[in-house]
Amino acid sequence: TIGIIVIDRTGNVASGTSTNGLTYKIPGRVGDSPIAGAGSYADNDIGAATCTGNGDIMMRFLPSYQAVSLMGEGLSPEAAARSAVDTIRRKYPTFSGAVVAANKQGAFGAACHRWTNFAITAISPSIVDVTVFNITCSM
Ligand code: ASP
Repeated sequence: TIGIIVIDRTGNVASGTSTNGLTYKIPGRVGDSPIAGAGSYADNDIGAATCTGNGDIMMRFLPSYQAVSLMGEGLSPEAAARSAVDTIRRKYPTFSGAVVAANKQGAFGAACHRWTNFAITAISPSIVDVTVFNITCSM
């Protein structure tokens, strides 16, 4: 899965998520990726979030919506992503997945659970070149 968040020069926010389909995906399955609020969510007043991982579990919690909503209440992108992941973790401690979030001020962050490697790639006016950030996941 590839998740993307874009905030343009005029402040418009967009997000999207592809999916490779979960392993052993059954024909006709609709995963989390195309569901607004689950796979991704954008609010032009706040920012956006996108998710990857076990969509069948994650989509029950609308984690992208939750992260954006929490940023709207003032949480940093990293804290909002962590909170969205923790909400799922409390019910499904062994799920694996990640939430990435960015706000309109140009801050971004991510949280992940039960992956040994998770990285996000970002560029913004305050970053000289495209940069890869390795995220340490909870286990
Ligand atoms: N979330 C995707 C799905 O469940 C899979 C993934 O992120 O790799 O379809």
